[in-house]
Amino acid sequence: MSELIIKNLHVQIENQLILKGVNLTIPRGEVHAIMGPNGTGKSTLAYTLMGHPSYDVTEGEVLFKGKDILKLSAEERSHLGLFLAFQYPVSIPGVTVANFLRTAVNAHRKAADPEDKGIPILEFRKQMKEKMELLKVDAAFAGRYLNEGFSGGEKKRVEILQMAMLKPEIAILDETDSGLDIDALRIVSEGVNTLRNSELGVLVITHYQRILNYIRPDVVHVMMDGRIVESGGPDLALDLEEHGYTWVREKLENREAA
Ligand code: ADP
Ligand code: MG
Repeated sequence: MSELIIKNLHVQIENQLILKGVNLTIPRGEVHAIMGPNGTGKSTLAYTLMGHPSYDVTEGEVLFKGKDILKLSAEERSHLGLFLAFQYPVSIPGVTVANFLRTAVNAHRKAADPEDKGIPILEFRKQMKEKMELLKVDAAFAGRYLNEGFSGGEKKRVEILQMAMLKPEIAILDETDSGLDIDALRIVSEGVNTLRNSELGVLVITHYQRILNYIRPDVVHVMMDGRIVESGGPDLALDLEEHGYTWVREKLENREAA
């Protein structure tokens, strides 16, 4: 079982309950989207899945490859095959993109095999070059300091490059579209589409429908007030675009009243 299974997940931050029973399964090979108004807990879900220490799980479980990952550190989750692209990527002055990627690749290899001596430099350069060409990232980026002075679009593109190098099995993209102009959005989406395959499950978290025009999801979920309240096909995203979130809220109220 290599899908990601989230069961009845309750999460609080600073004693305030944010996620109130999230249920969600993301099989490998499928792209799922979570849409929802600001402040509903979308990023809280992403950070909790990656093991951020500020997010306190009070109930529920998250299974990946048959393991309860909530017991694992963020690093162990990454080694197991989870990848999170952050809404606000950090910059690391003094560390080049190439060094950062090589360190990440080596940490993964070491986790899989403690005897591993690290990827040979030529092999690494070859792989990085291939992925950069595939994702149309300028070769000069390899030598630049990570995210220092990068535009929003460049940061996101380098994140997708990182994803290509680490070959995760589940990738979570939290508001990868925020702050991108239409060209950058298209390039980043093309990158994700290029990496899309039967081995990779993707969770695209977004406030706007726009990115879903480029990364077409198999399933769309709506999150409201810390729960998934509605799931459907790609058309659900278009309905939301047209009718807004009030429409889902009204539907929910009617359902509760009935
Ligand atoms: P979304 O990504 O859907 O916009 P978030 O998960 O970022 O929502 O936030 C959900 C709620 O949790 C919001 O009410 C937000 O104010 C609160 N929250 C998020 N992070 C923190 C934090 N570090 N400390 C306190 N409250 C937080
Ligand atoms: Mg968010």
